[in-house]
Amino acid sequence: MTLHPDSLAVHAGRDDLASLGVHALPLDLSSTNPLPGIELGGMSYEVLATGGHPSEGGSNVYARLWNPTVARFEEALARLEHAEEAVAFSSGMAAVTAVLLALTHESEKRHVVAVRPLYGGTDHLLASGLLGVETTFCSPDGVTDAVRDDTALVVLESPANPTLELVDIRRVTAAAGVVPVLVDNTFATPVLQHPLDLGASLSLHSATKYLGGHGDVVGGVVACDARLAAALRRTRAITGAIMHPLAAYLLHRGLATLPVRMRAQQEGARVVAEWLLSRPEVARVHFPGFSDSDPRGLIGTQQSGPGAMIAIELADGFDAAATLTASVQLFTHAVSLGSVDSLIQHPAALTHRPVAAEAKPSDALVRLSIGLEDPADLIADLDQALTAAAGVRERMGTALG
Ligand SMILES: *Cc1c(COP(=O)(O)O)cnc(C)c1O
Repeated sequence: MTLHPDSLAVHAGRDDLASLGVHALPLDLSSTNPLPGIELGGMSYEVLATGGHPSEGGSNVYARLWNPTVARFEEALARLEHAEEAVAFSSGMAAVTAVLLALTHESEKRHVVAVRPLYGGTDHLLASGLLGVETTFCSPDGVTDAVRDDTALVVLESPANPTLELVDIRRVTAAAGVVPVLVDNTFATPVLQHPLDLGASLSLHSATKYLGGHGDVVGGVVACDARLAAALRRTRAITGAIMHPLAAYLLHRGLATLPVRMRAQQEGARVVAEWLLSRPEVARVHFPGFSDSDPRGLIGTQQSGPGAMIAIELADGFDAAATLTASVQLFTHAVSLGSVDSLIQHPAALTHRPVAAEAKPSDALVRLSIGLEDPADLIADLDQALTAAAGVRERMGTALG
């Protein structure tokens, strides 16, 4: 039966529950598993450590190699992403690391093309050279020129963290040619965007954000074809970056409400973003639902809705940003995003702190993650905090004479 995506979010990865005689997701916390004998146990080890699936009559051997609760979440996420398989990691950065290690190792190529802007952690990992990868950073239009014979991967985000720039995924995958493209789909989620349908080979999430949605899980996941998934599982087994089963349980539980949360948060974000346009303290509102933030018209085609993230540039720069983030009461001043509660943070000082000067976001930029609160309450909070931020300028103006 072909299910509507909302129904799939509720039912994916649960097909066998009735036959197991249970209704809720089983949570298996075993760190090790009984072996059926040395020979068969050894064969199971061999298969799992090289990225395969558990075999009939075999053993899951050890939780770094395979965990049934994690596998269930992976199966559900793969279906939502229109992918053959998915592989889950202990964090979003562990997922990015595994993709870089697996793809550079298997292709014996060491070069990566990265479309900026990117999440600060991803930018930092690529720029650091820590994994022995050489990175060329470029704009979406620069991909054709940046790709070389030894390019193993092209990396992009859309919407990109923190400015919410939209990248035309089809154009980048066309420019990349035979080189696999990784799309960080954290901001859009599979509710709004399916990178694999647009020619990407891998769709990655910091599951810590919208997939978790409640600010209590750290995790990462990559959706891709079966061949790449095996390479990622092998890398994960060797480096030890598997997701904890309790995280997988919470993430799988949260998938059921993901479409509803995403749409409700998106509606709230639209109301807040429109109100922000009217404020003199705000010089610019970045929101993919506004035409000036979406010059290529990608909302409604590539991505079905604008999402629930907003970035604003304050007319009075860093001081106003510092006062705004210190003055909010309903928003929490904290990094991360995608939770049911609203968050506010200053990317240049925090999430994008390690980014090289030429690619660092503006000091005037503040990023808002809109949660499920009533938008009127969020607006009232921003109203008082922006008024406090405007007061800073007046006081400074008086001081300066
Ligand atoms: C947070 C984030 C990451 C990193 O994920 P962690 O779970 O924090 O390791 C990667 N990409 C994007 C777009 C993010 O927002």
